[in-house]
Amino acid sequence: MKVLKFGGTSVGSPDRMKKLLDIINPQEQQIVVLSAVSGTTNNLVEISAAYLEGNKPKAALLVQTLRDKYEVFIKELYADAIYLEKAKTIIDFHFNLIAEFANHIFTTIEEKIILAQGELLSTTLYHIYLSEIGVASALLPALDFMKIDEDNEPVVDFITEHLTPLLKAKPNVNLFITQGFICRNSFGEIDNLRRGGSDYTASLIGAGIKAEEVQIWTDIDGMHNNDPRIVKGTKPIANLSFDEAAELAYFGAKILHPQSVFPAQKYKIPVRLLNTMEPTAHGTLISSESEKGKIKSIAAKDGITAIKIQSSRMLLAYGFLRRVFEVFERYKTPIDMITTSEVAVSVTIDDTRFLGEITKDLSDFGIVEVDVNHSIICVVGDMGAETYGYASRIFEALKHIPLRMISYGGSNYNISLLVKTDDKVEALRSLHNRLFD
Ligand code: ASP
Ligand code: MG
Repeated sequence: MKVLKFGGTSVGSPDRMKKLLDIINPQEQQIVVLSAVSGTTNNLVEISAAYLEGNKPKAALLVQTLRDKYEVFIKELYADAIYLEKAKTIIDFHFNLIAEFANHIFTTIEEKIILAQGELLSTTLYHIYLSEIGVASALLPALDFMKIDEDNEPVVDFITEHLTPLLKAKPNVNLFITQGFICRNSFGEIDNLRRGGSDYTASLIGAGIKAEEVQIWTDIDGMHNNDPRIVKGTKPIANLSFDEAAELAYFGAKILHPQSVFPAQKYKIPVRLLNTMEPTAHGTLISSESEKGKIKSIAAKDGITAIKIQSSRMLLAYGFLRRVFEVFERYKTPIDMITTSEVAVSVTIDDTRFLGEITKDLSDFGIVEVDVNHSIICVVGDMGAETYGYASRIFEALKHIPLRMISYGGSNYNISLLVKTDDKVEALRSLHNRLFD
């Protein structure tokens, strides 16, 4: 069984929805995971925001606008009046539900119910379309098998346990359609896997049913070996190991939800990133196998803040780092890069909501310095401790650029450097020329 995930743009218009069958082979056993029609989840976020601020007229207007969009959508999707009528009933059901929240108290619990309507709509409309054109398929309700625990972590065993019987119940069906993104939480309430979470759904299903392969279909021909918006001549990376993909996930979040690598890695399910516009192209294959001793990709992330804590008390002391890290833990702020010297430690963060509180607490330990507007440049590949020469090539490429932090040896697959964002473009280009050309 294969799992195929299509994002919002791939179902973004009736025409695109119809074209999915260029890729989906109804003869083959597969689970198709769909996102909401592009723009819908954003619209649902806006509607929820209007409810949360108590602005009912605004909410009503937004609901009507989105409903109108779907009315047009179904008129183009279906040819037969009977199916159009079915779709109309579905739209009415979901939009009446959304509109009904005007009459209730509105909290983040209700917000999650609203956010779930996008995927429920896209999958049901597609299922009705398939039956109109005579393609047999079955809808799998993601809310019956996709679950997160108290820590918002998905429970793969729960998926296995609840999804397997749903598949077994329909031995004659090849094509299953289900919702990305949505799930139930530990209270049994409707919840979600965070924005962009449909990729994560696909990889969790893949892990849960030990799928042969997970395919993530987007509008790009895979993960590129550098940022195509900045560097000319970037190429899709043909093969990545799970370890390499995990290193890149933080940077490539737009193409693959960062968390999706982990279930696939744990259960060794290959993940392919493919392009709907060019279905026969190889794309990027993420698997346990990958070429050894090779640099695969260069990536960058902006909006990084570096924090340095300098303290003579750090010299020969133990427990110092723990106290430093506790400060970040207190403010639920993840640290990305870390470098240390004998008397100082530097870390980077990208979430600066509590920067003021963090620096204040850190100043109890020593002198604190903050540098904003930095970018992490990350070089990913198989560069294990027994290999050599990679660092020198990287430094050679960056010899004209000031480097604020360097991190090497954290894993075998990553060398990270912190530069001023003003120097990022030059750093990416120069590295590309030196490492790939
Ligand atoms: N529809 C959700 C979102 O827009 C999930 C997804 O598309 O992956 O975030
Ligand atoms: Mg996405």
